[in-house]
Amino acid sequence: MSKSVFEKTPESGRFCVKCGGEVNGFELRCNRTLSFKEPTCEACMCKAYDISREYFRQSMEARFEITPCIGL
Ligand SMILES: [Zn+2]
Repeated sequence: MSKSVFEKTPESGRFCVKCGGEVNGFELRCNRTLSFKEPTCEACMCKAYDISREYFRQSMEARFEITPCIGL
């Protein structure tokens, strides 16, 4: 039995609709808050708003008190 299927499954069980990358819990919360209807990763959300990842995180924290998990 191969474990590869499980290893590829992200913790959240979601993948970005734009790039296919893993979407984590922080990104899912941002999706909900920003009214993204489908799972969208941080990089693609930044692209959508044309902002840097650093600015995105600062904005999420300042406006919505959403912070990424430690280690991200
Ligand atoms: Zn993406």
